[in-house]
Amino acid sequence: MRPAPTPFPLLTAADDAPVDQGRRAALVRQLRARGIADERVLTAVGAVPRHLFFDPGLASQAYQDKAFPIGAGQTISQPYTVAYQSALLGVKPHERVLEVGTGSGYQACVLVALGADVHSVELEPSLSARARRLLARLGARAALYVGDGAAGLPEAAPFAGILVTAGARTVPPALLRQLGVGGRLVVPVGPSDGEQRMHRIVRESATEFRQEIFEAFRFVPLRGSSAGAQPNSERIGGTNRM
Ligand code: SAH
Repeated sequence: MRPAPTPFPLLTAADDAPVDQGRRAALVRQLRARGIADERVLTAVGAVPRHLFFDPGLASQAYQDKAFPIGAGQTISQPYTVAYQSALLGVKPHERVLEVGTGSGYQACVLVALGADVHSVELEPSLSARARRLLARLGARAALYVGDGAAGLPEAAPFAGILVTAGARTVPPALLRQLGVGGRLVVPVGPSDGEQRMHRIVRESATEFRQEIFEAFRFVPLRGSSAGAQPNSERIGGTNRM
């Protein structure tokens, strides 16, 4: 396989000073200590200049393992959560991945650093525009869209991986349909005013899905008309047929 090109060809030395690199290396050590064992994911987190996703006044806090406000009532996910979801997604180079909830664009950049062909949908146009400017500044190759990601992105389907970075009340059925066979959907599921459990649903065949449930997290809610407002009529879990 050809070597992955550098994920951020336009990132300059001035934009990523030794102090930033040092803080980032410390963050990676912290994630490893917290149990993130996927070396490719740790390398990807170690490659993304998270401080550039923050307002200059907050940049010194960018490598704390915390979520932060990014405007429009939304947050940039905690690095542990980004690493955890990325590891569950198990994305390999050149695989096509859909992210629902671009937000700051940070998670999208981690997926780019993993070598994925990244498509990311954001409901809030102002956040998408800001992420677009930042990804352009880094030279990161990802396709960004504005819309309701709970409906997926039929024009780019099927996906080898779908990563939802907002909490869904139920698994959006459109996302199941847009998984290729062997594809993984990683989505936090639970009430919007409480905790969500991380779910991974693997499409085993055209008709069979296998569901696994992991740790609890707190995400901002998945919004939009397709965002689980309807009861999920498609049965998943075990090897139920749809
Ligand atoms: N992945 C982001 C974190 C995003 S927070 C990052 O790395 O910074 C969740 C995001 O999901 C918010 O930006 C919110 O506006 C967005 N969102 C919520 N519901 C959505 C929907 N139905 N479709 C697309 N984006 C949605």
